[in-house]
Amino acid sequence: MNDRDKAAFKRFAQDEIEELKAEIPRLEELVKPVAPDNAIGRISRMDNIVNQSVAEAQLSKARVRLVRLTEALKRVDEDEDFGLCEDCGDPIPMARLKAMPETVLCVHCAE
Ligand SMILES: [Zn+2]
Repeated sequence: MNDRDKAAFKRFAQDEIEELKAEIPRLEELVKPVAPDNAIGRISRMDNIVNQSVAEAQLSKARVRLVRLTEALKRVDEDEDFGLCEDCGDPIPMARLKAMPETVLCVHCAE
């Protein structure tokens, strides 16, 4: 990966890491259980349970993504072969790296 691509990837990862760091506390707030003495009706309670499980799913996805981006960001600098397929040595397209920063294989070899 050339320096320009490295810099572009790092900027992308850093931006998204910032977004996730803002997003995660917001989601953590949403998954907190509502106190039982909270005077909400049955329907809004059910609503709340649904929203909570949606938020929980989003939260775990966001946490995984944050870890993967953070690790990729480290690898860009430490691993000379970052962005190259571990199997065939071909460059992994930037779009694939952005979508799956944890990937070490090109689409072809991953199949
Ligand atoms: Zn490959």
